[in-house]
Amino acid sequence: MSDDTSDQPRLPLPVPNADNQGFWDGCRQHELRLQRCRACGRLRHPPRPMCARCNALEYDWARSSGRGTLFTFSIVHGPTLPVFQARAPYNVAVIELDEGQFIVSNIVDCPAEALRIGMRVAVVFDDVTDTVSLPKFRPAA
Ligand SMILES: [Zn+2]
Repeated sequence: MSDDTSDQPRLPLPVPNADNQGFWDGCRQHELRLQRCRACGRLRHPPRPMCARCNALEYDWARSSGRGTLFTFSIVHGPTLPVFQARAPYNVAVIELDEGQFIVSNIVDCPAEALRIGMRVAVVFDDVTDTVSLPKFRPAA
């Protein structure tokens, strides 16, 4: 949770816009959502205004299974932004969702030495403020 009275640097938070509001609304409800083109049905992530396959602008939101595999990762030791330095070392991971899209996140509940490319992961949500939840992933069977 953020602490407005702290002298510590504050965690940068996502700033929803017209294209990704549905994604962040879903996270707040602990639901991972992918944009789905209303013309051709293709799923996409990260959110953007136009379908890369058919150029349609209309889309809706599909609920992802929240499951996937660890595609690649890095361990950040720093130096990094002051707000993240106290968390180092930490991982930054690319997850390939079972629906085929990629998402950048962190793997939680897993020591760095246990991270393995190809391991199964599932989404969990970190309620960092009263209005913002971040999707993270943890090892899954
Ligand atoms: Zn399309």
